[in-house]
Amino acid sequence: MRDMSPWREPVPPDGTMGEPRARGRFGEYGGRYAPESLVEACREVDEAFREAWADPGFRGALARLLAVHAGRPTPLTPARRLSEALGVQLYLKREDLTHTGSHKINNVLGQALLATRMGRRRLIAETGAGQHGVATATAAALLGLEATVFMGERDIERQALNVFRMRMLGAEVVPVTTGSRTLKDATSEAMRHWVGATGDSHYCIGSVVGPDPYPWMVREFQRIIGDEARAQCAAELRTGVPDYVVACVGGGSNAAGTFAGFADTPARLVGVEAEGGAGAARGRLGVLHGCRSLFLQDDDGQITQAHSIAAGLDYPGVGPEHAHLRDLGRARYVTVTDDEAVGAAVRLARTEGIVPALESAHALAWVISAAGGGDLPAGSTVLMTLSGRGDKDVSTLKELL
Ligand SMILES: *Cc1c(COP(=O)(O)O)cnc(C)c1O
Repeated sequence: MRDMSPWREPVPPDGTMGEPRARGRFGEYGGRYAPESLVEACREVDEAFREAWADPGFRGALARLLAVHAGRPTPLTPARRLSEALGVQLYLKREDLTHTGSHKINNVLGQALLATRMGRRRLIAETGAGQHGVATATAAALLGLEATVFMGERDIERQALNVFRMRMLGAEVVPVTTGSRTLKDATSEAMRHWVGATGDSHYCIGSVVGPDPYPWMVREFQRIIGDEARAQCAAELRTGVPDYVVACVGGGSNAAGTFAGFADTPARLVGVEAEGGAGAARGRLGVLHGCRSLFLQDDDGQITQAHSIAAGLDYPGVGPEHAHLRDLGRARYVTVTDDEAVGAAVRLARTEGIVPALESAHALAWVISAAGGGDLPAGSTVLMTLSGRGDKDVSTLKELL
């Protein structure tokens, strides 16, 4: 475990996670760096989202979908045996128990409902491991929309099961053969495709990345994680608010949604990245997929390929709000290795009877190592978002264990 960015002391209990400044700015990050036709399409999404988010009718319809279809609210589970071994009090926010098995469904149901409200009849999405693609295909089927999912050719080979699930759900899966044939290129291709289809299609981005309003809108759709957890902590924790709030960070949506519920408390926020995909911890300023943020780059400024055993953390950058929270010292970003994550997954399985997604296992690996190394003082209360379940990772784990 390596510590890449410090907190500002004392940790400010301020309202850092409100609306972004004009044109989607979080500090010096964010913005809308897109071709003219997409700038217009983003403006329409922005306007529709603002209207919808202020409309109790939309909020109510979404809350109902999340309840009756996705299984919300998700429980807060005390990890009793592991807590005892670590000398801290660890609570898990169980996004692994949602329909389709990860937090992605929260955002996708929000965007699908928004697309319906805007009169769109098709969702366009990119996917890496296929989790966001499956969630998008699921929401499209539920609301009677079409879905077109762009996926790198290499990922299609590696994730055959999710490709089948998407097709079973009625989505069209389009192989992307350019560049590294993985998530970065699938995202570029999806955006290019949207240019010619903005009239009838909504681009459903899977994380807090991309041009304004996506980073903000996706965080708002995911803040249900943090809002629920805040109320559950208030009811169940002796301290009311946990001392630490921890989540894994790929693009950063489950972390942003979790952090948003605690931004105005003194809780210390920790984002855990993969060693090989550490945009917040080790990225440099750049522009990719319509947004200014921190990206892994070579000396010529070319975006480099991320590498992680967890496909959902295999993105070479991080959402603009995380870059800003890092600069402010409001959240701290750390990295863990593939091996540490695998070890943490096995430990959770054997102490709590939960097989986590390898992405979520990164967050747990930090908790384990910080509790052992004194970074987490004995007796601390820790809320950790368990972003997804590990079923999708069993073939990867089977080769290693
Ligand atoms: C996609 C995914 C992630 C990473 O995405 P964020 O936008 O950083 O949340 C993490 N965990 C799981 C289970 C995922 O499917």
